[in-house]
Amino acid sequence: MYKLFDAHNHIFDFLLDLNTKYATCSSKITDWGILSEICLTGPQNAFCGFGIHPWYVQNTPENWQKDLAELLGKFPQSFIGETGLDLSLRRRDTQKLQEEFLKFQLKLAAEFNRPIVLHSVRAVDRVLHLIKQHSPPKFLFHRFTGSVQQAQNIDAMGGYISVHLDSFRSLKAQNAIKNINPQKILLESDWDKPKLDLKLWENQLLDTANQLGELWSLDLQSTLKQCYSNALRFYSQKLPLE
Ligand SMILES: [Zn+2]
Repeated sequence: MYKLFDAHNHIFDFLLDLNTKYATCSSKITDWGILSEICLTGPQNAFCGFGIHPWYVQNTPENWQKDLAELLGKFPQSFIGETGLDLSLRRRDTQKLQEEFLKFQLKLAAEFNRPIVLHSVRAVDRVLHLIKQHSPPKFLFHRFTGSVQQAQNIDAMGGYISVHLDSFRSLKAQNAIKNINPQKILLESDWDKPKLDLKLWENQLLDTANQLGELWSLDLQSTLKQCYSNALRFYSQKLPLE
């Protein structure tokens, strides 16, 4: 029996196997309704993220800031995500707007003391710069493919990374993953298809863990266990009375 924690996906459904935990992110305002539903009625194995993804900053209704703050207040166990910066050529024209959205979400993370999940394409250094200005309590760069230096900077600032199967494609990222503190790495599927194929999804996570285990020279069970407790440390929040 594996202990799985999928640290980043877009599964808008309940996972009935309570041994498996997952963190599901919204990308746009229209996702917030279904995620609220999961927060309200779902089993305790789902962690829900509310946020606006950098791909969807255009045409977002004006009241999004107020609505987002309200949701965070309503769901004390929720986190902020997915947000971030995408500075690839085709998205660069919205950089200013993306930064505006990211800054507001970083500010909310600090204000509400919530973890924040970041999408970053060609933007790690810029995002770290903005993090320094706003000091969110916990942050995670998901689907990490950066360099050793970037991984070390993230680690030094108290941040986490999550790895996807794609993260192992380049030697540069493999090197970075190998060199970051093992307590800072989470596993993710980034599943975003409307229908969840349980077997395929589980196999993808296990493949990702196997790749990581190879870099760590660690067996599958121990790799999963390490990533599970890392993810729990990242997403769990102290209740006010604890
Ligand atoms: Zn995602």
